Order: sequence, then structure tokens, then C-alpha cells
Amino acid sequence: MWIDTHCHLDAHEFGNESVAQAALARQQGVGMIVLPAVEVANFSIVAQLAASVDNACYALGIHPIYVPHAEEDHLRVLREQVAAAMDDPRFVALGEIGLDFFIPMLTEPAMREKQIYFFREQLKIARDFDLPVLTHVRRSQDVVLKHVRQIRPNGGIAHAFNGSEQQAKGYIDLGFKLGFGGAMTFTRALQIRRLAAELPLEAIVLETDAPDISPSWVHPGRNSPDQVPRIGAVLAELRGMAVEQVAAATSANAKAVLPRMPVLM
Ligand SMILES: [Zn+2]
Repeated sequence: MWIDTHCHLDAHEFGNESVAQAALARQQGVGMIVLPAVEVANFSIVAQLAASVDNACYALGIHPIYVPHAEEDHLRVLREQVAAAMDDPRFVALGEIGLDFFIPMLTEPAMREKQIYFFREQLKIARDFDLPVLTHVRRSQDVVLKHVRQIRPNGGIAHAFNGSEQQAKGYIDLGFKLGFGGAMTFTRALQIRRLAAELPLEAIVLETDAPDISPSWVHPGRNSPDQVPRIGAVLAELRGMAVEQVAAATSANAKAVLPRMPVLM
């Protein structure tokens, strides 16, 4: 059984196929798909999608790319909806939150500050509800680590990890797992492949980030959660391990870091 720890199955790229895609992934052995939210407007969409299939759960949060349009009041809405979702067994984390210092518009000083403010306020919500976080980290590894270290949510996943070995250790020390996906399938991704091969297996979870970060055999096409087993097979090859062993270990890691996640069938 496999787990996709990061998948935007509600994205417009999936049109009306979201439920069918979850079923297809299920047929391929993907027992659970984590659906992060990106803005207040899609909170109910990810919750409803998770409720309408047997192999999905969800997170609530405001993604850094959506911060420019986010209002202060959205943090109040988020806190309220998190409080309500604590009774929902499909609700597992705060996310997707983080810092994006790659997109030029987001790196202007005022927007940098707004991103950091929203990130910190959301880390506090996670801490207050004892929830793990799903983080988006782009050109911002050390700044994300600094704020996580200060506020200390209950662990989380550094999604699409693309940092150094030292940064990986920083996350691991804070109770995080590192998400590996399609980027690892490209032979030119030397650093990511080396870390995937050498980091402790207990630190690794698998993800697709579908519809984005397609693996090499899909690129530049649309990524989908049924790709997880083949992505996992790449990890097994990089580590010289049996595929079944990688499936069992990465699923156990996902369950450990997202303890609210429904038990797999
Ligand atoms: Zn994402």
C-alpha cells in the first residue's frame, strides 16, 4: 500500500475527473491521498472531495502563492474551520503553508513580510491544535526552518524537498519528514537523488504534487496520484531496496507524521 502525501486533486487540471483519479490510484495500490488546501475558497472543496472517496484526507491552510490575495480575516476563518474540522476524521494537518522566495512578485519586501506573517500565524494555529504542517519551501529553506524552530508545530512534511543535507537534518530534528516525488525521477537531479538514496529511510515520504512535478515518464504531461507506485520504485532502485519494503516504510512514515490520518485498509 502506498500513500501520496501531497496531491492537489481538486485543481482545475483534473476537471471533473478528481473522484475517478482517486479510484484509479486506489487500483494501483494508493491507499491514501493527502489533499492540501491553498486558500479559504477551496477549504470546503478539499473537505468534500476527501469525504467522497475512500482513500483521501485533507489539510487546511493558505498557500504562499495565494497570500497576495489573502486578507487578515482569512486567518480567523482558518482558525474557526480548523476548530470545526477537529471532529472530522479526514482532517489531518495544517497546509499548504510556507514561503516562496522564487516567484519575483512574492519577493518584493512588502510581500515577503506578508508571506512571513501568514506563515507564522498559521504555524501558531497548527501549534495551538497540536497539528502537523505541510510546508511549501522554495528558495526559503533556512527562513522556513527558523520560523518552524521558533513556533514548533507538531512536526510536518517538507513537501517537494529540495534542500541540502544539513537542511534535511534541520527538518528531521524538528520532527519533520521530507517529501520526495517526481523530481527524483530525473537523472540530472543529482542532489535530490543522492539525498533520496542516503537520508534515513524513516525521514522519507512519497508524494506526487499532482497535477504538477510530473515524473520523467509523464513530463511535461499532467501528473496524477496513480504515479506514486512507480515513483516509489525509483526510490527503491536508488536505495537498492525491495519495492514492497519502500512502500511499507514510506507509508508507516506518513502515518507517523500525520497521526490523524485514517487507518489504511
Ligand atoms: Zn502543493
